[in-house]
Amino acid sequence: MTSRVDFHTHSKASDGLLSPSELVERAHGKGVRYLALTDHDTTAGIAEAQAAALKTGLHLIPGVELSVTWENQCLHIVGLDIDPLQTTLAGGLESLRDLRNSRAIEMGRRLEKKGISGALQGARRLAGEGMITRTHFAQYLVDQNHCPTIQKAFDHYLSRGKAGYVQTPWVDLENGIGWINAAGGTAVLAHPQRYKMTATRMRKLLAAYRDAGGQAIEVVCGNSNRDDIRNSAGFAREFGLLGSVGSDFHSPDTPWTEIGRLRPFPEHVEPVWTKLGIALNSFVT
Ligand code: AMP
Ligand code: MN
Ligand code: MN
Ligand code: MN
Repeated sequence: MTSRVDFHTHSKASDGLLSPSELVERAHGKGVRYLALTDHDTTAGIAEAQAAALKTGLHLIPGVELSVTWENQCLHIVGLDIDPLQTTLAGGLESLRDLRNSRAIEMGRRLEKKGISGALQGARRLAGEGMITRTHFAQYLVDQNHCPTIQKAFDHYLSRGKAGYVQTPWVDLENGIGWINAAGGTAVLAHPQRYKMTATRMRKLLAAYRDAGGQAIEVVCGNSNRDDIRNSAGFAREFGLLGSVGSDFHSPDTPWTEIGRLRPFPEHVEPVWTKLGIALNSFVT
């Protein structure tokens, strides 16, 4: 169940717990040879991760996980092998940072109305220099004993329809994919099973996604079961998309999404790493 490839991970640059170098060292220790750092809407951790990767011999793929809006729903698109300095992408990420900052202010206001004080400042403190996310608000709610767990903080305050949830107009699907492609990257639809779509809606999305230049879909995620993998592999074949794999690792505290802890790659799907020029004889070690 250990994969040499993990193309979806987070660091402190967004809502991960480890610094980029700690992440690279942990991945190396787990036997991962090809790691993509894909922080939410930022490439700020990539330089540090690259430097750490050079020391260990692990191959670091610069990445990002974009928040996009499609038909009123928030989706995540991973960009792999991007040039973090490319101006279209960098400008786009700057606009998402502004959106995140104003969303955080509004979240703080709404939580205040529910009797939770200091959430904006608390979340900002936890985010530090990194991108501010709902995960930081959730951690603050747990730290202040408003909620027993991160999961409950999302369920009671931060999920769609709850008091602290703020509907946010992220970049639209077409432009988000455009930014990734402008930066020389490959677009990957992240964790398809998490959107809870009917097969009909998923097909509508995948048609729009492919037409906009989307090239790949995650077929193995950290929490995928066999049915999830069979389903997404079927969609990859149906729409002629490449398959990617990623744990979506955030923190050592959640061992069920450990770096490199991934089920085997499905048959009859072309892996995204062939396009990235990575030849792998055996995917699973
Ligand atoms: P944001 O992009 O700021 O809206 O935050 C989204 C992040 O929150 C995701 O990337 C997850 O890491 C985390 N998240 C979302 N929903 C949940 C949940 N139900 N339980 C735990 N973490 C969640
Ligand atoms: Mn996250
Ligand atoms: Mn995601
Ligand atoms: Mn992620």
